[in-house]
Amino acid sequence: MTPRQAWPLCVAAILLCAGGAAAATPAPDDPACSAEDRVFMKRAYELARFATTHGGGPFGALLVKDGKVLAEFSNSVLSTGDITRHAETGLISAFSPKIDRATFERSTLYTSTEPCAMCCGAICFSGIGRMVYGTSEAPFVAAMGLPPDPDPLTSHEILRRIAPGTKVLGPLMEAEGIKIHEAFWAVHPEYVGKL
Ligand SMILES: [Zn+2]
Repeated sequence: MTPRQAWPLCVAAILLCAGGAAAATPAPDDPACSAEDRVFMKRAYELARFATTHGGGPFGALLVKDGKVLAEFSNSVLSTGDITRHAETGLISAFSPKIDRATFERSTLYTSTEPCAMCCGAICFSGIGRMVYGTSEAPFVAAMGLPPDPDPLTSHEILRRIAPGTKVLGPLMEAEGIKIHEAFWAVHPEYVGKL
């Protein structure tokens, strides 16, 4: 999330009190995604739901190589007080001591929501070869009750610039991700911009 999107709580509160965010329309799936990608994205959404009841925001990620799950992580910013415990950065931080660079390069990171700039940086330094995200930034921002970012910086653009060796795909199964976000942010506007 960019600083511009991390507007103060009062902005979201006002919008939510005024009737909430308009329901976002899911974007079509990235046609480059496979049936296997859908299976693992389903798991990323499960991890996102898990996080909402276990001290985190609605974000989950997993690392997969050759059809095998190597690592999973759910956002745990609230339970740890560590602002770097996003699903993607948290996963890479927790598991990079155990996973060598060559393994990262041949793995796919599935993440329930398009990664922020911090997480793109971690993806870059890990050397992860492929990243698939579920829900795009725009409907995520809408679910928080924030206005559209007039100058969005997408993970496609960030990773194209800083990690051209990482293949980026998404969105995928965005309708499911939007439901998770809308359910969470409707009752937790106090966490907008903090998770
Ligand atoms: Zn992040």
